[in-house]
Parts: sequence; structure tokens; C-alpha cells
Amino acid sequence: MQGQGRAVSPGSVGGQAGPTADVAEVFSTIQGEGLLVGTRQVFCRFYGCDLDCMYCDTPASRMQTGRCVVERAPGARDFEQRDNPFTPERLLDLVLDFDEPPGLHHSVALTGGEPLERADFLVAFAPLLRQRGVRTYLETNGVLPEALHRTIDGFDIIAMDVKLPSAIGRDVFAASREFLRIAQQHARQTDRPDVFVKVVLTAEAGNAELVRAFETVAGVDRRIPVVLQPVTPAGAVKQPPGPARVLEVFDLARGILNEVRVIPQVHRLMQQL
Ligand code: SF4
Repeated sequence: MQGQGRAVSPGSVGGQAGPTADVAEVFSTIQGEGLLVGTRQVFCRFYGCDLDCMYCDTPASRMQTGRCVVERAPGARDFEQRDNPFTPERLLDLVLDFDEPPGLHHSVALTGGEPLERADFLVAFAPLLRQRGVRTYLETNGVLPEALHRTIDGFDIIAMDVKLPSAIGRDVFAASREFLRIAQQHARQTDRPDVFVKVVLTAEAGNAELVRAFETVAGVDRRIPVVLQPVTPAGAVKQPPGPARVLEVFDLARGILNEVRVIPQVHRLMQQL
């Protein structure tokens, strides 16, 4: 998810220009990361991401466009292709069709790629979901504070990554801090969104950058929950951090933050999407 990517493509609905977005996948699954692990969600995965994380497990969605793969029915694991781009109304209809019986899903995960690269679209789309009583869950790499500022009113829950320089090849802590500040300020004013942070823990992550990540969170509010996610080996990642190292990093985090948990990618264990 991420980057300041391509602007939302101009669409035409009934002769009127409006925001559209290219969607990579829509499917129903069990959330396998973070504080909502174990809940069932509809995933809307958007195309486009300007980051290049060493552990990226959705490389296809980092492309700027392609066809949309849609599960024929929630949980069917049988897919068909749809044309892009989507208008907010067309994607809303698709998502509502998935939530049958109503309430089957805890929420709709807006993920990527980096969904906030589609901020114009989300400004229109996320409130449509909320108006229908559907909770919205943003999964983001947390480096686009301006885009968050424009869209935040549409989100019930934000799962935000704080990215480490060893994973992405550059330092984005200032952007992460501003992102978190905006989210926390909005939550204080409106009781929404709930926010938590995820830090993917690789074997390469050093203590100095981890401390900076934890202090980035604590600098906004040390009560914000932080999930340490030991990386799942895939692609360029050959091994996760060992058990002793995970406990060491937990201690490091707990010295700076109030609430720290270690949760691996559980959907892999369950063979969920
Ligand atoms: S893990 Fe997310 S933020 Fe990182 S490159 Fe992949 S899609 Fe982008």
C-alpha cells in the first residue's frame, strides 16, 4: 500500500465526471493481521503503491492497473474478472452483494497496494459504506498524511504501518508521525477512528530504527497499541527473526509504549487468502 501514485483516473458516470479507481481484488476472508485478527472482512484491494518493501506479499497490486479479480460469492474461492475502473457506486453495489446475510462481515478492509493513493475515490466511497451501516477499516503504510487528512472522516478503524528504513530503503518517520498525529487528533474530536500501528519485524531490523519507530508512536501517544508482526518468509525474505530476538524487541518496545503485542500473519496458518 503506498506512495503518492497516479491520481485517480477521471471517470464518467451518467455524463458527469467523478472519481473512479482501479481495484485489484474483491473477496471475503478472515483478517490475519493486527488487532482485528480472526474477524471476517470483505477485502477491497486497490492497485498502486510507490513503496517497495522487501517483504511485500501483494506485488501484483503495486502495479498501477490491471483487471479486477472478484470472488463469485463470499468464501467460494471461485473468481471472475471485471473491468476497471470502478465508480464508488459500482464498488458499493459489489460490496453490499457480498455481505449476505447482512452483518456476515465485521467490516470492509480498504487495502492495497496503498489505498490512500486513491484519496479522491475514498472521499466518496468510504462514507457510502458508512451510510449503509458498514464499518470501514483502512490498511495503510502511513506515509501519506495529506491524503489521510482528506479522507479520515470515512474510516472507523485504521491499521497503520510504521515502516523501517531497512525494509524500504528510506526514512519515512516524519511522515508516519504526522499521519498518526492527524489520526489521533480526529479520534479525540470525534471518537473515531480507532487506530493501531503495525511494525513488521524482519531479521534485518536494527535496534536504532526500531527505537525510532516506537518513539514516533510514543511522540503522538504512548497508549496507541503497537503490533509487532514477525515477517513471514517469502520472496527475498528467507527467514523471520528468531524467538529470542522477538522477545528482545518486545522488551524494547514495552519500555517506550504502553500496549505491545506480537501477532504473526495468522491467515497464512489458516490457509486463508
Ligand atoms: S507491503 Fe504494502 S506498502 Fe509495502 S510495497 Fe507492498 S503494497 Fe506497498
